[in-house]
Amino acid sequence: MKDDVNKRLCELLGICWHEQVDDQTLQCKHCGAPMLFPWHQNPDFTSEKGRIDLLKRIRGMKGLDNFFLFYGEMQREEFGELPMVGLEFTSIFIDSIMLDDNGALARVALEFLEAKEASHDRNC
Ligand SMILES: [Zn+2]
Repeated sequence: MKDDVNKRLCELLGICWHEQVDDQTLQCKHCGAPMLFPWHQNPDFTSEKGRIDLLKRIRGMKGLDNFFLFYGEMQREEFGELPMVGLEFTSIFIDSIMLDDNGALARVALEFLEAKEASHDRNC
């Protein structure tokens, strides 16, 4: 389940999800990267390091503002309240999403990137 989310995030972010050719060939069957090195391991966007990496990648897509807006809208739909602003938003985002060790950020990012991809597909 966690790997499914990480793998799909890699697809949406344009990163190779490395898969070994076979037991003897220590290379990725997609990009050829040697699988021996730790820097070629697949990312875990639920880990502390992975969460920062994920936010940097979303920022790199110039999507951080939209990501926060998307999360605010998710909250509004779930709780039927007006969009959160300022300190309340920051506090809830950090507490419920950033500091969650069970993949909350990765799941919200997945929904965000899938919605972004769907809207891109519609506009083409
Ligand atoms: Zn690869």
